[in-house]
Amino acid sequence: MSDALVQNYRRQPVAFERGEGAWLWDTSGRRYLDALAGIAVCGLGHAHPAVTRALCDQAGRLVHTSNLYEITLQTRLAERLTARSGMDQAFFCNSGAEANEAALKLARLHARRRGIERPQVVVMEGSFHGRTLATLSATGNAAVQQGFEPLVEGFIRVPYGDLAAVEALAGREDIAAVLVEPVTGEGGIRIPPEGYLPGLRRVCDQRGWLLMLDEIQTGIGRTGTLFAFQHEDLRPDCLTLAKGLGNGVPIGAALVAGPATGLFTPGTHGTTFGGNPLVCAAALAVLDTLEAEDLPSRAAAMGRYLSEGLGRRLGQHPMVREIRHRGLMIGLELDRPCGELVGQALERGLLVNVTAAQVIRLLPPLIIDHAQADEIIDTVSTLVERFAAEAA
Ligand SMILES: *Cc1c(COP(=O)(O)O)cnc(C)c1O
Repeated sequence: MSDALVQNYRRQPVAFERGEGAWLWDTSGRRYLDALAGIAVCGLGHAHPAVTRALCDQAGRLVHTSNLYEITLQTRLAERLTARSGMDQAFFCNSGAEANEAALKLARLHARRRGIERPQVVVMEGSFHGRTLATLSATGNAAVQQGFEPLVEGFIRVPYGDLAAVEALAGREDIAAVLVEPVTGEGGIRIPPEGYLPGLRRVCDQRGWLLMLDEIQTGIGRTGTLFAFQHEDLRPDCLTLAKGLGNGVPIGAALVAGPATGLFTPGTHGTTFGGNPLVCAAALAVLDTLEAEDLPSRAAAMGRYLSEGLGRRLGQHPMVREIRHRGLMIGLELDRPCGELVGQALERGLLVNVTAAQVIRLLPPLIIDHAQADEIIDTVSTLVERFAAEAA
């Protein structure tokens, strides 16, 4: 590990040099199966030819001009995303945290418009929304906030998946919005009870609150539909995206609809890089490919295959609490912390992640095939069985 880097990451001792689909090769030529896809980023897998072509073509033509000028590809991407989501307009930025910053600023503007002076946003325990001051303040994880006090104010926290806890706030006059992940990512692949999002939609409609969905991890096909909210019959007022949108190039977006439109006006928000021609070309190639190959359906089918396979091997295992999945967001919760499994998987040529201390998280590229899924099932199952045998 180099002293030249700020030591803010706990990195695995491996550096990758090349990728193709769900495979990665390290600097000594060893091959790994990637069941994490750069944390739900490379949904099309590594070095997808459509993305490579889009990036190379666009890099040779025009990379950046700034938002002082019209950007044709940005307009096209906005039209594409709004058409597919049913949202009205898009704002582009460079990361998930920035997309959520935009959402939180919109909530403040929405409150001003309604005469609320000290507005609150309802957020969830166990949520993750980013590392900027506002988004870490919204995040429901003390470890993310530790050392950065005073936090940004204006957040009310309730348990995740608990509609009654949000309904209990309906009497308050100072709430502007609800910000929630349809399935928690960093929080351990928690899936809310049936009717949770529609229920939140109903409360927000009744009270004039914005429903803001953080789909930075769940969006772009990962859960089996292009956006996770599309499993149900509703539309949010704000939808934040990032991770899978660029297949690895940094791009984020905040989509708005209904009462969230018209809040940002010239001078109220912006970013130098946001939505430049290079990243928009990549995102358009991602959406083209997702549609041409119907990858959301594939994610749904492969997610079922993987979780059923894991269930057959581990479903009755005493150390396994639960196997949860929505599409290719898969969480295998053990009854104890299991962070060391990440390194053990790496030694066996498999990239996985452990989040919320005891949840093995699988976020493979949407393009994985059955043989690769079988390899993931076998390696993860073997590791958990060995982990349990050693603990006994
Ligand atoms: C990753 C993530 C973020 C933050 O995105 P960055 O690009 O790392 O800033 C926010 N919300 C959710 C749900 C995420 O998974």
